[in-house]
Amino acid sequence: MEIIGNKVPVCKYCGKEYVENLNIPANFPDFIKQAMKYIPACDCEEKQEKKRRELEEKERQKQCLMNKVKRYRDISVIDKKFLQSTFENSNMSDKHMGMSKKYADKFILDGTAQGGILFYGGVGTGKTYASACICNQLMNNGKTVLVMNLGLYLLKIMREWAEAENDVLNYVKTCDLLVIDDLGTENISDFTREKMFNLIDTRYRANKPMIITTNLTPMEIKVKLGSRIADRLAGSCLEYEVKGESKRKFDKKAFAEWLTA
Ligand SMILES: [Zn+2]
Repeated sequence: MEIIGNKVPVCKYCGKEYVENLNIPANFPDFIKQAMKYIPACDCEEKQEKKRRELEEKERQKQCLMNKVKRYRDISVIDKKFLQSTFENSNMSDKHMGMSKKYADKFILDGTAQGGILFYGGVGTGKTYASACICNQLMNNGKTVLVMNLGLYLLKIMREWAEAENDVLNYVKTCDLLVIDDLGTENISDFTREKMFNLIDTRYRANKPMIITTNLTPMEIKVKLGSRIADRLAGSCLEYEVKGESKRKFDKKAFAEWLTA
């Protein structure tokens, strides 16, 4: 508010004229009386203040969420290549990439997914790549993602036992998306099969989506990991075969050029 001469000031938000303040104590000095002469007749100032506080709160919540996303990302097994895998810089002509993008979009729209995906198929067909693209899109939109490698997980709980297991299972239960990369490459003993079952069953019971990548077919999963694990996966994931040749091709042409240069 600005008082120029005796002109009645107006609200800078809605333009409404201020009204005279009839509650100024008589013993106030004149310059204060002058400053208090008019008061707003609207609640724009309060509304602005409320809006500012709400924005501040929203920003704080967003920061809080991003910290949570980061916490899950930090305990995930992710390398630089994984983090750089995005739909934006991918060849989207492969069928499984189109499906993955739709899955990520719908996940963000709904806040979760109706189910998970079991990507299976030959080595190097891009199963991990597709799941990495999904993960990155979700994390960029504030979703917590936990990416696990069962081999490393089993090694960890063999060393640290129950404490580590409970700790990780808590994350398994609460993250928005769980990814188990390269299932079935581990050596299977009764111990590892039991621990694997605990993990998958924990997620299954939480009724939250998981994405699995594996070189094993659903039938091979049943044979190698047992029907209890296979049943949980079949009951919660779309089985999706990623076909095609290995993307990990050696560039013969570039090699020949390098050799003869
Ligand atoms: Zn106003």
